[in-house]
Amino acid sequence: MQTHIVIIGGGYGGLRAIEHLAARSDIRITLLDRNPYHYLQTEAYGYIAGRFDIHDIAIDLDNWCRGFGQNITFTQCEVSRIDMDGRRVETSAGGIEYDQLIIATGARTNFFAFIKGLRENSYGVKNMMRAFNFRREFERLIFEKVNSVREADDDLQIAIGGAGLSGVEIAAEMADVIQKHYKTLGSNAETIKITLIDAAETILPGMSDYIVRHTTKRLESLGIRIMTGAFIDRVENGEIHLKDGAVVPYRFMIFTGGIIANTPASERSYTTNKMGQIVPDPYLRLTPAMNVYALGDCVELRDSRGTLLPPTAQTAEKSAEYVAKSIIGRLDGKPVKPFHAKIDGVFVALGGRYAVGELFGAIRVRGKTAYLLKKLITKGYYLGLKLRINTGFKKRTDTL
Ligand SMILES: Cc1cc2nc3c(=O)[nH]c(=O)nc-3n(C[C@H](O)[C@H](O)[C@H](O)COP(=O)(O)OP(=O)(O)OC[C@H]3O[C@@H](n4cnc5c(N)ncnc54)[C@H](O)[C@@H]3O)c2cc1C
Repeated sequence: MQTHIVIIGGGYGGLRAIEHLAARSDIRITLLDRNPYHYLQTEAYGYIAGRFDIHDIAIDLDNWCRGFGQNITFTQCEVSRIDMDGRRVETSAGGIEYDQLIIATGARTNFFAFIKGLRENSYGVKNMMRAFNFRREFERLIFEKVNSVREADDDLQIAIGGAGLSGVEIAAEMADVIQKHYKTLGSNAETIKITLIDAAETILPGMSDYIVRHTTKRLESLGIRIMTGAFIDRVENGEIHLKDGAVVPYRFMIFTGGIIANTPASERSYTTNKMGQIVPDPYLRLTPAMNVYALGDCVELRDSRGTLLPPTAQTAEKSAEYVAKSIIGRLDGKPVKPFHAKIDGVFVALGGRYAVGELFGAIRVRGKTAYLLKKLITKGYYLGLKLRINTGFKKRTDTL
């Protein structure tokens, strides 16, 4: 008899879990996602700035699942509730029973309710619809500038709230696009100004001094104004009001300053932290049910020293590999060790062919070399998905 594993979420974690479980003929997997595609969030910065197109950041989940064979199927649906006692998930496509459940539902932008006007006045990038709207607006602003008569004091301000990985990458890519096209777009483009605002004392909080130093230098060379230790109090009428009384004018605001986990409701309560992330047992299971696992951004992950791991695609994939191996280990009656992961490295894309990166805490690179290394990693990921898609697409068309 096959074990039926249901995975909620076709993001970085959900897909990696499937890759590691798919070879087992005693396992059948149903992947559920509200969207028909896997959204490559890590490439969102390039999409927004017009460097990549929609086909570079979306992968069809049905074709991808077909690429594995009959044991893996995809259903597009919204999961509303988990019935842990009944071993069933309630979805917009009806109830689905499981033997083992993996929650890989990721996170969304947290437009903090205590910052008045933030949600109404800013864009996020955690889902493709928001990224699409953001891209259109950025393009519209550039068009407006190029198409207008220049006035002496007509700076067009773009503000980014949150100087973590996504805020920094988006700021750099937009600034690079504008700077690169001064000649073709004319001097009007120079009046587009970007400000990066963060409440922390430094940009990229938690990252090494090397990464922070060189990222700061690069952002400044792109003409980006950096405001750290700056708490946003409220957003209204084209103005960002900071707690210390300062006012930052804006025409267009992006918020990347916080996330909140997506977690489906359940009749059994489980522990969550301030970010809404599931606090799991040492084996990444939900404490009320030993056959329900959680991985990726929706769960609080720690390394062997108990230090919190940042919510990244890398940690989502590591937790997914661990959960897949644990499930297989338990099916084979083998002992399973607790989850401990460490970060192999980080690369920050900083506009055009420039990046800053660190690998294994020892190798430090910046400039074009770091850009090429980052590109190699993302290309490798994309090519893996594409190969699977090609197989799935062929199978689908062969059966028509
Ligand atoms: C601009 C940007 C740049 C980034 N750069 C990097 C980087 O350079 N390196 C890095 O490691 N990380 C980076 N990240 C972070 C990375 O993208 C996330 O950490 C990663 O996507 C988390 O993977 P996940 O599988 O946990 O969740 P996700 O990839 O968010 O996937 C979750 C999936 O669950 C689905 N879902 C959620 N709720 C439901 C429901 N109720 N029913 C059905 N489906 C549901 C969603 O539709 C989604 O497909 C970046 C993020 C952004 C926004």
